[in-house]
Amino acid sequence: MRLVLLGPPGAGKGTQAKLLSEKFNIPHISTGDMLRDEVREKTELGHKVAEFVKIGELVPDDIVIKVVIHRLSKPDAKAGFILDGFPRTLKQAEELNKALRELNISIDRVIYFQTTPEVSIKRLSGRRVCEGCGVNFHLINMPPKHEGICDFCGKELFLREDDKEETVKKRLEIYRKETVSLIDYYKNNGSLREVSGDLEANKLNSQLLKMFAEEKLIAK
Ligand code: AMP
Repeated sequence: MRLVLLGPPGAGKGTQAKLLSEKFNIPHISTGDMLRDEVREKTELGHKVAEFVKIGELVPDDIVIKVVIHRLSKPDAKAGFILDGFPRTLKQAEELNKALRELNISIDRVIYFQTTPEVSIKRLSGRRVCEGCGVNFHLINMPPKHEGICDFCGKELFLREDDKEETVKKRLEIYRKETVSLIDYYKNNGSLREVSGDLEANKLNSQLLKMFAEEKLIAK
């Protein structure tokens, strides 16, 4: 199965991508995670993108496109993949299409996570990320067992610089300017399905699995 998860920051794409990736044993390809890894590891690419990521601006198309196409060429993506946070511009969508066409494959579904700016801001300002293993928690929806400490590796949790309210507002504005047009782009080719990002994670996951079964993407 090849999926694209589309929607504003804080709509729950990452949580669903993780659940679906475990269920179908296909890679969760999050451009945000990949770029943050590069920044953390202080690679050449990390240096190039650090400032964009920190202030919540989009990394230039040519850089992100190269990263994604390289990732899609790895053997584990042969059986399928879940793209989370890519494409985010029309140019990225077109380049993705071109690359997939060359591989003779296509996206099965684009899942559009609909939510309001209020929900996005609430979700992201409560999100805490582990500095060690990168796992996400949430102060209210998914609190760690011990305040400020990762359940899995014991390292400290922090609030992402770009999850601060002012930066989230800017990311939402960029989403409206650059990414919203992709909804129509994918609607026009018939692959778009809309879900409510406001639903509780397990409920939304069941709804997605039911939809995939009804549309014969998976066995009932
Ligand atoms: P995310 O974790 O998906 O919210 O992404 C965090 C940050 O990574 C974004 O604010 C951008 O700076 C950068 N980023 C992630 N995906 C993309 C993309 N497809 N195009 C451009 N920049 C991206």
